[in-house]
Amino acid sequence: MCIEKTPWEQVIDFHGHTCPEIALGYRVAQIAMRELGIKPTPSTELVVTAQTHSCALDAFQILNHATFGRGALKVDENKQHKYLFEYSDTSVRVTITVLPKILEHLVIPENLATRREIQNATLEAIQFILSSEENMFCTIQKDDHQ
Ligand SMILES: [Zn+2]
Repeated sequence: MCIEKTPWEQVIDFHGHTCPEIALGYRVAQIAMRELGIKPTPSTELVVTAQTHSCALDAFQILNHATFGRGALKVDENKQHKYLFEYSDTSVRVTITVLPKILEHLVIPENLATRREIQNATLEAIQFILSSEENMFCTIQKDDHQ
């Protein structure tokens, strides 16, 4: 029997470990797909521009098929968890900005003694990132730039 992997499992497999930043990317990627809607033409390319480099980027490579190699994933380093999604031949774009309250959970405290404590803190952070209300998680700006 073949059990298909969930999108979350696919992302974690590709990324190589489980961390709060990949959870952030996973959620941003899914919100973006919902907001963008259906791809206008089969040849349309989704381009993602991130304003900071982090583990989150790997979620876009899997869920949005925005790969770094094809130039569909760009980083414009600005130290902000702000992500721009746009289809190559349309003028609609979606900007998702993750809110500060969420970003506080990306850093696992350094004073944790055991591996178990670090693991628990990581799982709690992921849970928080994935389950917080959407309006507590990010702001979504959708615009037509032409
Ligand atoms: Zn990571």
